[in-house]
Amino acid sequence: MAQAQSTEADWVSRFADEVIAEGERRAPGKPIVVASGLSPSGPIHLGNLREVMTPHLVADEIRRRGHECVHVLSWDDYDRYRKVPAGIDPSWAEHIGKPLTAVPAPPGSPYGSWAEHFKAAMIEALDELGIEYRGISQTEQYTSGAYRAQILHAMKHRGDIDAILDQYRTKQKPAKKQQQKPLDEAELEAAEGSGAAAEDDGSAGGAGYFPYKPYCTVCNKDLTTVTAYDDETTELTYTCTCGHGETVLLSEFDHGKLVWKVDWPMRWAYEGVVFEPSGVDHSSPGSSFQVGGQIVGPIFGGDQPIGPMYAFVGISGMAKMSSSKGGVPTPGDALQIMEAPLLRWLYARRRPNQSFKIAFDQEIQRLYDEWDKLNAKVADGTVLPADAAAHSRAVRTAAGDLPTTPRPLPYRTLASVVDITAGHDEQTLRILSDLDPAHPVTTLDEVRPRLDRAEHWINTQVPAESRTVVRSEPDTELLGSLDEQGRESLRLLLDGLDEHWSLDGLTALVYGVPKVQAGLEPHAKPTPELKLAQRAFFALLYQLLVSRDTGPRLPTLLLAVGQERVRKLLAA
Ligand SMILES: [Zn+2]
Repeated sequence: MAQAQSTEADWVSRFADEVIAEGERRAPGKPIVVASGLSPSGPIHLGNLREVMTPHLVADEIRRRGHECVHVLSWDDYDRYRKVPAGIDPSWAEHIGKPLTAVPAPPGSPYGSWAEHFKAAMIEALDELGIEYRGISQTEQYTSGAYRAQILHAMKHRGDIDAILDQYRTKQKPAKKQQQKPLDEAELEAAEGSGAAAEDDGSAGGAGYFPYKPYCTVCNKDLTTVTAYDDETTELTYTCTCGHGETVLLSEFDHGKLVWKVDWPMRWAYEGVVFEPSGVDHSSPGSSFQVGGQIVGPIFGGDQPIGPMYAFVGISGMAKMSSSKGGVPTPGDALQIMEAPLLRWLYARRRPNQSFKIAFDQEIQRLYDEWDKLNAKVADGTVLPADAAAHSRAVRTAAGDLPTTPRPLPYRTLASVVDITAGHDEQTLRILSDLDPAHPVTTLDEVRPRLDRAEHWINTQVPAESRTVVRSEPDTELLGSLDEQGRESLRLLLDGLDEHWSLDGLTALVYGVPKVQAGLEPHAKPTPELKLAQRAFFALLYQLLVSRDTGPRLPTLLLAVGQERVRKLLAA
């Protein structure tokens, strides 16, 4: 039965089986290496988190089984600076062509370079997500001469490399690995800003094909052309558009890099990478993953990693107000509105080839409800195995549990409360204590950090026109226009407030008033007529309390408004 099988093990454990077996075959007894690569050429898009999460989850499963596993995270910070992202001083265009580590950080940044600035935000997010990895700066690798032997080898075999690349050269330029299919122009800009622009493969100039490109030692840009190379002496001659030209000894020169399509397979061999996924656009013929697979063995004597394609991760409802970074959220932005385990869960529960969206809009409330239901099922033992696996991957790693909220009240309740109190702590605590008087919340620390995430969500993602504004004065016109039944419904509600002042109590009360008026028992099955009456009653309450037809759930709203003010606004 396929269904039973799929709950035996989730996608993570199936990949872990495969990767462990392959690791044992390639290098018995050695730590298993999985890899990710990120280009800090601009804000690192939330969509690119899948590049790290996919190998992270597999590495974590491998570690849980007691194997040593290294997750290498290559910072492609020796890539050229390609374009100035939206919102940055346009004069930064003068640095285009330099390594990302040689470009000054955006104005006001405490970091020493462009690359360091954008890496820092990602490092912070990865840390909060509990992701353990070994970061490798490609600038350090190249400029320290770590790859010298590989570079000389690639230059020596440039004819073979050229022949392999030539099989794939088409008019269409394939994209570099982190690029995802853009949803709209803003995302396109951001994707390009993330170093994902079309990558040249070192196509031949007049002097033949060279898989290596120097950064000019005068202007520090890669606007260079190799004009001669001597295999015997390793003398390399280049010219630059700045007018500089020189001959260097490649056996000593550490100021340039292999072109991407050669660089990537070189690193697979150098690090011994067994697993490295890449974006879905790499399924095309001539993709760097496919070409790399042809180069890694014959040229570098290594193996291509197991490399699943991962599908696009979208964003739903990123509010315009938080588009300071060009409208593209980063993992750090997501972690300000949701806790790390929830974000991990979104990745763990979907196979890499399934696309999904990360909710910045109202959907986040439903997502949190679903997450809370899953937690309840885990607690009472009714959870299905595959769901249990995804939950476990979300809340802990091999190193231990991630921080959680001690008392996880529903996100939508917290959001409603901070919406109404505008984040006033004392008022928030009073309302939260009233939710369940038998077990009152005694300090806000019990409901943090979830409360802080809900507050940030309300403040940054909910537009002003959707915010709840409680009336300060009664709507005398509406009150005066009520018929006897309308006035009675308000009286019944006010009479019951005292003894029903809790979330459950008020829920029973607001649904119960129309029942009483219809002469029904409190537990009577709702009829269509009753449902209509309840809807009309709720609409009346919303109008009288917040001057709208809808709002936060009524019991929460009543608790938040407070008894005294409710009585003032509803006294007919
Ligand atoms: Zn130059």
